[in-house]
Amino acid sequence: MTPVTVITGGSRGIGAATARRLATAGHHLTLGYRRDQATAEALATDLRATGVQVTAVCADTRDPDQVAALFEAAAELGPITGLVNNAGITSPIGSFVDLRLDDLREVVDVNLVGYVLCAQQAARRMGEGGAIVNISSVAATLGSPGEYVHYAAVKAATDTLTLGLAKELAPRGIRVNAVAPGIIRTDIHALSGQPDRPERAAGRIPLGRPGEPDEVAAAVAWLLGPDASYTTAAVLRVGGGL
Ligand code: NAP
Repeated sequence: MTPVTVITGGSRGIGAATARRLATAGHHLTLGYRRDQATAEALATDLRATGVQVTAVCADTRDPDQVAALFEAAAELGPITGLVNNAGITSPIGSFVDLRLDDLREVVDVNLVGYVLCAQQAARRMGEGGAIVNISSVAATLGSPGEYVHYAAVKAATDTLTLGLAKELAPRGIRVNAVAPGIIRTDIHALSGQPDRPERAAGRIPLGRPGEPDEVAAAVAWLLGPDASYTTAAVLRVGGGL
């Protein structure tokens, strides 16, 4: 049976790199995105050339109705077997005392409420067997002082979500794991106000450089695939030693 996988935030960055990996591995895909329809559609067209079915769906993961519609669209490709909970944001980089309430709420809504809503849809729709990968961050255990402590706290919640869901869904053969990227070259840093953050951080990364989205995608693809058949409740760090 062909795997059918939903990737939230599949239009850019780590989500798009994961989509490329999974298409090559033969997954039918539904790519969720929030704003950038042109980029999402262009990627979907590209991936169809590999012979798999790909749909791009505009769905804000904060909204339960839009999340339901995202999974409805995926179910048209066949029984859903996988979810990559990836759509995430940071806030403008800054000190904790200056954190704005709106930014705090948005980080919680996208990175936690959105992950829960998507995992619920996946768990309801998967039969016996399947795999969920939550994209966490090394921030969960480093704390991100002076940058975005609230984001780090929410990523720690992602790790706990992973642990609890893995145990609750294990009797149905559904594996749940997390990947915790370090500092990866994507647009997320420009959106947080510091496009050059990966380069500036290189000196404090043990491997001496930021990571590439495809290096994270490789871990996600492994966790979704049959070689990870006995791996659940794991948080796999892909951070160059961070
Ligand atoms: P990115 O390049 O900024 O891409 C973010 C993706 O999420 C885009 O596809 C965006 O869609 C989508 N998105 C954002 N908010 C959304 C919402 N409310 N509903 C639906 N889609 C939404 O980010 P990235 O660096 O690839 O990050 C992916 C994940 O990795 C995030 O969970 C992030 O926290 C985590 N992470 C990243 C790094 C890093 O250094 N890059 C490190 C650790 C963890 P549109 O383009 O349509 O807005």
